[in-house]
Amino acid sequence: MPEGDAVWRTADRLRRALDGRRLERTDVRVPQHATADLAGATVLETVSRGKHLLTRIEEPPEQGGRAWTLHTHLKMEGSWRTYRRGERWGKAGHLARVVLDAGDVSAVGFQLGIVELLPREREDDVVGHLGPDLLGPDWDEVEAVRRLTSDPERPLGEALLDQRNLAGIGTIYRTELCFLTGYDPRTPVAAVADPLRMVRLARTMLDQNRHIPQICTTGDKRRGRSLWIYGRRGGDRCPRCGTAVEHAELGQPGVERVAYWCPRCQPPR
Ligand SMILES: [Zn+2]
Repeated sequence: MPEGDAVWRTADRLRRALDGRRLERTDVRVPQHATADLAGATVLETVSRGKHLLTRIEEPPEQGGRAWTLHTHLKMEGSWRTYRRGERWGKAGHLARVVLDAGDVSAVGFQLGIVELLPREREDDVVGHLGPDLLGPDWDEVEAVRRLTSDPERPLGEALLDQRNLAGIGTIYRTELCFLTGYDPRTPVAAVADPLRMVRLARTMLDQNRHIPQICTTGDKRRGRSLWIYGRRGGDRCPRCGTAVEHAELGQPGVERVAYWCPRCQPPR
């Protein structure tokens, strides 16, 4: 699943393709919005909020002058691609959920996990629950710490993934953050000595990766070296101490997600 930095990059790509353009044809291929037609409206901007994308669109006065937000979420498989109008798409047409044609550009959202068209004033209904956005203009590290530690018994790995605490972390950053700070992901958040350092490190990691396609946490972008321990299994060793890396699906039943840790560098507490 794309993490916050990849979603930020998607918003950036959509901004460059669509900001300020008048839509000539729109096709929203989900049942609840199958009849929506935004042709004639102008795209103001696309912003990311954690892993959510908000594309703000405004109708001209003669069409009603309404302000809309197209809310999309990539979930597991989703992506937004931009093409020159008429260019062959890189993915099968039946996977498209949204098509926005403007000038010589087509922006196509494939396999999106969420597609909904909302009146602008209702944006908070879909992103108001999110904690501070690690790559947002309103990033607030004190509030992020407050939320992250608000349930003292909660396992750290679970609290880091909860987008209501801080928005943008997925399974890769969770594993790498716990490794770099030396905490077993099952550690209760109350036992984390310096949660401020943890959220600052999270912000630095996402910020350093926002312009590059593959997540790198080690500073070494070479294949197989870019992450400390995420994805190491089958007896793979910790690059720091040589102990076999462990992994498990962690989290509440039904929403377990994979985590990796080194039992020596990240001892149980
Ligand atoms: Zn180790």
